[in-house]
Parts: sequence; C-alpha cells; structure tokens
Amino acid sequence: MHRNALGERWHFLRSYFSSGPSYLILFATARCNARCRHCFYWQEVADADVSKELTLSDLEKVADSVSLIYLSIGGGEPFLRKDLAAVVEAFHRRSGILYRNIVTNGFYTERIVETVREVRRRCPRLRLKIQISLDDFAEAHDAYRKVPGIYEKAVQTLKRLSREARETVDWIRRTHCSCSFECGANCNVVFSPRQAARALITRAR
Ligand code: SF4
Repeated sequence: MHRNALGERWHFLRSYFSSGPSYLILFATARCNARCRHCFYWQEVADADVSKELTLSDLEKVADSVSLIYLSIGGGEPFLRKDLAAVVEAFHRRSGILYRNIVTNGFYTERIVETVREVRRRCPRLRLKIQISLDDFAEAHDAYRKVPGIYEKAVQTLKRLSREARETVDWIRRTHCSCSFECGANCNVVFSPRQAARALITRAR
C-alpha cells in the first residue's frame, strides 16, 4: 500500500496507540560469514541453513498480521539474504513500517550498496538506517570477528554508504521529499583510555 505524508501520520498514530506491537526485531537469517567471540547467537549461526529460514511468503504473512512503525533487521548477516529488499518492501507495504534499520558486519560491500539502492527504489518514502558494527581498530576487530580483512571491508562499506547518504540528502533538498537514508557505525566495545588516546593521535595525523 502506498501512503502519502498524511496517511503515514495516521498510520503512526494508529500503530502507536494500538494494543499490538509497533516495533519488530527480525533476525532475517542465522547465516553469517563471521564467528565473533562476543556473538550471543553463535549456536544458531553455527547451525545455520537457508532451509530453516522463514521464506519471503512466510514473512509476508507475518507482515500482514501486524501494524508496525519500526522494523529492526539483524541476524546472522542479513545481507546474505538475497531477497532482503523484497522482505523490507513486504513490511513497508503490508505492515506499514515507516522506519527501518539493518545491522551488518559490513563485509559484503557491493551487495550491501546494491541492496540499499534496491530498497530505496522499492520504498522511496522509507526512513532507512544502516548500522555497521565496529569493535576496535583493524587488527583487534579482525581477531574478534575471526575474519581477516573484515575491518577494512566494513570501513569501505561505511564510506560507500556515506557517499550514497550525502547524495540522498542533496536529493531531498532538491525535491523536498520526506524520505531519508543514514548510515553509521555501531561501536560495540567501549574503548579503553589507551585506545581512545590512539584514536585521537590517529585522527590528529
Ligand atoms: S556478525 Fe553478528 S551474527 Fe555474525 S557472528 Fe558476529 S555477532 Fe554473530
């Protein structure tokens, strides 16, 4: 269902004051390319198989049964789902979500950028946020996640999406459209004073 700004406000109020949930956290897949030391979902990740996942048609039924404002998608690595853009569209059109964030380890740069573009094509009014997890500087981050080079990939994805987000902001200014797209980094570990000092020194160089 397509909504205009007034329809969105009405949907927001109706969902907010309804007795049902207005916020859904969806673990879109348990498949993941990383094996993080801190993963609370590690048993499912180790056992993951596409055949155990809810299909797009299952998720459409879920979306039909709820009226939502916010959808948060995690995993696993959600961008491993090839139909991720269609899943988002299903929740946008069928349950009315207005805001959505996706948490990712940022490894699959091209796939992430392409999926984000596809979501924006399919759901131009959706407020979209991508959160890329960063735990530490390169060496420690790769060691936490047990994937060599994942820090560099995550930073590259962050840069690419930041560029897309800047272009979106320019486009919104030009068109006065109400859509939005943000991306940023999730900092999963509080940096120690020594790490903070290193960060400041690096930034100063
Ligand atoms: S990226 Fe997320 S789901 Fe994958 S192993 Fe790390 S914490 Fe677990």
